[in-house]
Amino acid sequence: MAIWIAIANQKGGVGKTTTAINLGAALAAADCRVLLVDCDPQCNATSGVGILPGAARPSLYEALIGDAPFKSAIVQTAFDGLDAVPASPDLAGANVELAHEQGRALRLRGLREEGPVPHDFVLLDCPPALDLLTLNALAAVDTVLIPMHCEYYALEGISAILRTMDSVRASVNPGLSLEGILLTMYDGRMTLTRQVASEIRTHFNSLVLNTVIPRNVRLAEAPSHGKPILQYDVRSKGAESYLGAAREVLARVRERRAGMAADTA
Ligand code: ADP
Ligand code: MG
Repeated sequence: MAIWIAIANQKGGVGKTTTAINLGAALAAADCRVLLVDCDPQCNATSGVGILPGAARPSLYEALIGDAPFKSAIVQTAFDGLDAVPASPDLAGANVELAHEQGRALRLRGLREEGPVPHDFVLLDCPPALDLLTLNALAAVDTVLIPMHCEYYALEGISAILRTMDSVRASVNPGLSLEGILLTMYDGRMTLTRQVASEIRTHFNSLVLNTVIPRNVRLAEAPSHGKPILQYDVRSKGAESYLGAAREVLARVRERRAGMAADTA
């Protein structure tokens, strides 16, 4: 059964999309089947894996408003093992169109319940807001991975998403848990980065992945070529770091599964 993970943080520019694409590709390189779902009307994850947003085929928007089955929106990417459900600019309208509908935050969960997908991981790239699209993602997933940029106010920013997770847990998704926090655009030469990172680790302990994603220009270049970093520059620090993050996520999942098996034995 697929594990559904939302990549979320209401701040923009913290590395959500970069993480969704490249963690997805790194998990695929580890022989997992991965489905990347672009929940952001900006469509950066869609174009970042080489798919033209807004082309004439079903996207997440059509699925969310009930015009197409979720599975009909799945497309293959050029990266082996990585499929995607593209976004389209129409998705911005879904926030408004669904605003007064009953169960408006449960649309994506409903799509998940249409039936299992043949993937091991479903990664949801969320928009930079705690809007209806992010709420739909949080209601649908098993866990949340929060990318964090080590800067001032990073800790303040994280409390808003954690509060939102609490309220989603209390209302519609009691099983929702935190997959972890991933430190992104890490520049170890900067004292501020090191200070903030150590503050975050003190506060969240083992919830913070040991792997940090360094600031790496190759990661910033890859999306304009429509390629994950593993395809664009496999030898880069960025590629190495996302492979490390994928190994950690896999180890966490295995540990949880072993724990669950022990509980039921
Ligand atoms: P978000 O989805 O949270 O808004 P993005 O993943 O789009 O953030 O990243 C914001 C910008 O920073 C993009 O231009 C992206 O290419 C760049 N970027 C992201 N991660 C890195 C990194 N580790 N090193 C260098 N540039 C990065
Ligand atoms: Mg983004």
